[in-house]
Amino acid sequence: MTHILLANDDGADAPGLIAAYEALCELGEVTVVAPAQQQSGQAHAITLETPLRANRLRERPGYRVPGTPVDCVKLALNQLVESPPELVVSGINQGTNGGILVHYSGTVAAAKEACLQGIPAMAVSLCQYRDCDYSAAARVTRTLAERLLAQPLPRGVLLNVNVPPGPYEALAGLRWCRQSLASLDDVYERREDPRGRPYYWLGGSGPFKGEAEHDDLIAVEGGYVALTPLRVDWTDEESWRGGGSALVEPL
Ligand code: MN
Repeated sequence: MTHILLANDDGADAPGLIAAYEALCELGEVTVVAPAQQQSGQAHAITLETPLRANRLRERPGYRVPGTPVDCVKLALNQLVESPPELVVSGINQGTNGGILVHYSGTVAAAKEACLQGIPAMAVSLCQYRDCDYSAAARVTRTLAERLLAQPLPRGVLLNVNVPPGPYEALAGLRWCRQSLASLDDVYERREDPRGRPYYWLGGSGPFKGEAEHDDLIAVEGGYVALTPLRVDWTDEESWRGGGSALVEPL
């Protein structure tokens, strides 16, 4: 029977994870290993200084781990699941993980960790922050998981999926995308504590705008589900082939 590992960064009780769990159960056996706390923005962080305990979930097969998304995947693959899953799914995240957000995202990182370990993986995000309805994204997750199981991407490549808000029937379709390089417009709110000292809180980022035709963010704006293949090998092909130019002249 097909075995799928499900992780996320919003926590083991997040509605997006539960929606993904229910959709993926139609494909096989699903084990959840997810953070005990909200871990958005933790990227590929791992826990080194404190022990990790895995507490069994009561509601579905799996564990909650008081660590990061990557801790969850590492611990799952190393200790918690009996045999390697055929697929690792991360999500469904509450909020966009397109463009350069992939560098901050715990959702993407959990899938990236699986990919580093040679297991087909995808991250799924719903591009909505409030009053989220995950039903369309859950149907898309199920379909894409089935396709990935039948035809995995090359080793070292993970699939990043961003689903626009709205009902399933309103989706314009699937689009094969590049990661947008549009920059973020960070908004730090400056406030004062009761003793008059300032503190700062990242309130959000301005509206994301894609730039190029094939950008993931443009696709989502147009109502498409953006599918972006991401590489774990960060080597820049062009620079490497160029031989490093003046940098590698003899010392
Ligand atoms: Mn999140």
